[in-house]
Amino acid sequence: MIKPDAVENGHIGGILDKITSAGFKIVAMKYTQLSRRDAQAFYAIHKERPFFGELVDFMTRGPIVSAILEKDNAVEDFRALIGATNPADAAEGTIRKLFATSIAENAVHGSDSDENAAIEGSFHFAGREIF
Ligand code: ADP
Ligand code: MG
Repeated sequence: MIKPDAVENGHIGGILDKITSAGFKIVAMKYTQLSRRDAQAFYAIHKERPFFGELVDFMTRGPIVSAILEKDNAVEDFRALIGATNPADAAEGTIRKLFATSIAENAVHGSDSDENAAIEGSFHFAGREIF
């Protein structure tokens, strides 16, 4: 996902350019907005964390871009491309270093395992939307 902060700040094009330049193929993509129920379900693993309410408010406040990306070693390589959760700790040239503003509003989401990538892909897309 390209998160609401990055959409608001005009970074959709810049982020997609970094993604495709790094060799990822876009196999599904949409411009959409999460409901509160969607965001609560997507981030259910964090529901006991102190920032959960803030995270749901943030992720639902405006449109996002969701996408499924394909590449060899995609999960690990995408996590490397986006950088650390806190942009202050993210390496130079990473998407979060370039486009994020804070640990909460950090521009992009990336799945953390192949299993979660499959679950999260099905959360956003029907089979006929995946190419
Ligand atoms: P990542 O997105 O790098 O996998 P996490 O899974 O730990 O990071 O957290 C999910 C999201 O919750 C983060 O991307 C960020 O938007 C938000 N978040 C994480 N930690 C904090 C925090 N300490 N304060 C506020 N928001 C946070
Ligand atoms: Mg995570």
